[in-house]
Amino acid sequence: MRDNAGTGGKNARPKKFPERKCVGCGVMDGKKSMLRVVRDKDGDVSLDPSGKRAGRGAYIHKEAGCLKTARKKKSLERALKCRIPDKVRDLLDAEIIGSADFGAPPEKT
Ligand SMILES: [Zn+2]
Repeated sequence: MRDNAGTGGKNARPKKFPERKCVGCGVMDGKKSMLRVVRDKDGDVSLDPSGKRAGRGAYIHKEAGCLKTARKKKSLERALKCRIPDKVRDLLDAEIIGSADFGAPPEKT
């Protein structure tokens, strides 16, 4: 008789969704719910919706609260080790706050 008592108990998590740390709230989350900001080798900072651009990247939730926190703590600047240009800030605003359900009723069915 085989001893199978030890099998099946382990629940190894598949690494299907790579997790990134939000520069705002500091929580790890899947890339899909986050926005990537990238600084390329020329020092050009831009948003990277595809997540495929080469360079140093920082991730932030697509949430106004995380953007605010990141801005307050200068987390993006620190993560990318450079100043965030105004146009990129504007793009972040548009992308995150613009797409958020601002002022929308908390629940709709
Ligand atoms: Zn966050």
